[in-house]
Amino acid sequence: MEGTAVRGRLTWQTGKVSSVADETPTTRTIMLDLAGWAGHRAGQHLDVRLTAEDGYSAERSYSIASAPGEPVAITVQRIEDGEVSPYLTEELRAGDELEVRGPIGGYFVWDGGPSPVLLVAGGSGVVPLRAILRHRERTGSPAPMTLLYSVRTLPDVIYRAELDGYPDARVLYTLTREHPAEWAGLTGRVDQAMLGSLAFPSEQRPTAFVCGPTPFVEAVAESLVALGYPARQVKTERFGPTGDANG
Ligand SMILES: Cc1cc2nc3c(=O)[nH]c(=O)nc-3n(C[C@H](O)[C@H](O)[C@H](O)COP(=O)(O)OP(=O)(O)OC[C@H]3O[C@@H](n4cnc5c(N)ncnc54)[C@H](O)[C@@H]3O)c2cc1C
Repeated sequence: MEGTAVRGRLTWQTGKVSSVADETPTTRTIMLDLAGWAGHRAGQHLDVRLTAEDGYSAERSYSIASAPGEPVAITVQRIEDGEVSPYLTEELRAGDELEVRGPIGGYFVWDGGPSPVLLVAGGSGVVPLRAILRHRERTGSPAPMTLLYSVRTLPDVIYRAELDGYPDARVLYTLTREHPAEWAGLTGRVDQAMLGSLAFPSEQRPTAFVCGPTPFVEAVAESLVALGYPARQVKTERFGPTGDANG
């Protein structure tokens, strides 16, 4: 049975784009109708495959932005010279077909439970963390949750209205490229001092989920371990190369 389930997850299937919605000037959420979808856990990702008329194909991974039980959604940030993300954010329309396989991943997932959780995002690394926050909200989990979200400027914040609307999750933004006069929140890169200043309601170290560009994730994970987080409690998801350590 397990073998069948694994093969099922890794089989490519064609879904239909049910809608697209711009989140910021460079990011777009794509909602998918997937008849053969087996369900997913909060934090998992899927693969997208684009195939040109001459048969050339390109595959990329995208975190699932929706909670378990919700229709599958991904949120893609456009990389200007990229092969796949400009198509997904500029060309793809509602009604188009898209080839995907998944869900993938069994490590960077949050299934619930009462223990405290720290979410740390750099840029589009907020996508799977949004799925975790939504899952917590939908299931009424009592887990204390803090999101620390590093972003260049305020207009770059993805899902801002939703994130600001969670009544009992703590959401903190740190702006790395601007400091608006009216801004009372954090500024600058996520570092050990910033992480160490986050107070939690219990003595217990939270489980941390860190996601974003590879240099960002590595710097944050090192800081958390230096602060005394057990390494096994620091879960990481790396989105790929970039010279910007703050998403
Ligand atoms: C598990 C996983 C989950 C991911 N989830 C998401 C997600 O939810 N949303 C999302 O937008 N992306 C996500 N990514 C990144 C995504 O898979 C692609 O790498 C990204 O969309 C760029 O693809 P591209 O074809 O447009 O660029 P490419 O043609 O692959 O690259 C073009 C140029 O951009 C650089 N580059 C590649 N990736 C990045 C990046 N992430 N940031 C900055 N520069 C980059 C390359 O080095 C190259 O110079 C995820 C990656 C992984 C591994």
